[in-house]
Amino acid sequence: MFTEDQLIPLSALQHWVYCRRQCGLIHLEQAWAENHLTAEGRLLHDRVHESETENRPGVRIVRGLRLVSYALGLVGQADVVEFYRGDSGITLPEADGLWQPFPVEYKRGKPKKDDSDSLQLCAQALCLEEMLQTEVPAGAFFYGKPRRRTDVTFDTRLRDLTRQTAAALHELFESRQTPRERYTKKCDNCSLYLQCMPQTTGIDKKIDMYLSKAFELPPEGDDEL
Ligand code: SF4
Repeated sequence: MFTEDQLIPLSALQHWVYCRRQCGLIHLEQAWAENHLTAEGRLLHDRVHESETENRPGVRIVRGLRLVSYALGLVGQADVVEFYRGDSGITLPEADGLWQPFPVEYKRGKPKKDDSDSLQLCAQALCLEEMLQTEVPAGAFFYGKPRRRTDVTFDTRLRDLTRQTAAALHELFESRQTPRERYTKKCDNCSLYLQCMPQTTGIDKKIDMYLSKAFELPPEGDDEL
């Protein structure tokens, strides 16, 4: 079990999957630069968190719920947790019966090809399971482009991957070393491009050569210039 001062933000999972260097820059070096993509995402999340609870027939909706898992060492906030009345789940204040938690995350863009979004949502589910002592088998994303809701099942593969990624994150935080990465096309959309300088510091670049060039002495005979 982790202690409170060892908890890592849930958002770091997504940063880690997108790029380990970006994760190190944001969470170890506190580098953050907003571009139009991150600004739109932040405004969407702010809007989602504006109202806190809502009741509809058979469903109760809580926004901005704080989440923690001491087993995984993660802390964060859910955009939305819907509680559906059913045969399993937990009891809720001033409500009869059992209610099944179902986390929903809002995303500005379209579904990603990698596991980064699903990992973050699965980590939210694992937090809810630990906090509420009930199973959370599924959740959903609400994507902005195209506007649609996509359900996600938290299967064994996704749960194992989430736990492995959380463990890798804790290793990164303990090492305090921002990893180097290779320049790829995704760097062109990265809000930390200028802080990262992947074409100069990338994994396939020889830092020794870069430094020798930077400290290169002028050719002989140029001393008096
Ligand atoms: S610019 Fe590229 S290598 Fe650097 S942090 Fe962003 S995605 Fe990672």
